[in-house]
Amino acid sequence: MTTKKHSKDSLAIENDYGASAPARTPWDTARRTMRHQDLASLGWQELLMEGRIPSRLIRRARPMRAVYRRLPTDPRCRICFAPFAGTGGRLVAALARATPSSFSMQLCNHCEYLARGQKTGADVTAALVFADIRGSTRLANEMSGPEFARFIDRFYTAATDVLVRNEAIIEKLVGDQVAAIFVPGLVGERYPDRAVSAAMELQEAFGAGTTDEAWAPVGIGVHTGTTFVGVVGTTGGMTELAVLGDVPNVTARLAGAAGAGETLISEATIQAMAEVPAHNTRTIEVKGKDEPMTVGVLSPGVRI
Ligand SMILES: [Zn+2]
Repeated sequence: MTTKKHSKDSLAIENDYGASAPARTPWDTARRTMRHQDLASLGWQELLMEGRIPSRLIRRARPMRAVYRRLPTDPRCRICFAPFAGTGGRLVAALARATPSSFSMQLCNHCEYLARGQKTGADVTAALVFADIRGSTRLANEMSGPEFARFIDRFYTAATDVLVRNEAIIEKLVGDQVAAIFVPGLVGERYPDRAVSAAMELQEAFGAGTTDEAWAPVGIGVHTGTTFVGVVGTTGGMTELAVLGDVPNVTARLAGAAGAGETLISEATIQAMAEVPAHNTRTIEVKGKDEPMTVGVLSPGVRI
């Protein structure tokens, strides 16, 4: 930005920053001064399970919190309060380069950086929602390349809108699949209900259950259990948010077994829900499991 023509707001921010931290942004200072142990205290498990931000991290983020909390508009980072919308959102994006993290609207990219730097992770109780497009190979063959790219883009955009609104962590948007994690620390103790209701909203966003034919034929699986959620490294120094173990495997199988417009929810999810919507049941074979699984089947148009 230029040094002339500051708005009142941007001047106020610069003065506040300047008083406590002469570096380019408060985060530059925080990163320099933060020792390894402080980074480790991010408390991934506490954050995901209880929604509690460790006090040491709050202390480090205090200069940002003091400024950012006064800026409009929600949603904002849960750790440093950087706003992501409105005038405040544009200001912090321009001045502090703070934007939503790549996997959740609940953290900014700077706070995500701290988590990723740790390759941190923990076993947490979570509800997983996996969605994938039925017959995507056939669809790709029927469409031109640009048409298919636009279709996938619409699929990602519709899914992201619903998942962000429902406070999910988006684990991945890859190929013809979307995977999201619902944890009590971010969503509240009724996270399984939230996951299922988000799955139904997803189907609605894809056009299932409307008078017109769904524009995206998608099968969704929802499963709940204790699973590893964390940041894992790949060769070359890249890191990626991952959910690992039996729970994601089963969720993926459920998504694969769901017909277009259907949502299959595991018995564990039904048990964990406070209010279970009307559903049918079905028994399916799951690869890697000796026993067939009985699952709840939610059809298009059913609302919780
Ligand atoms: Zn932040």
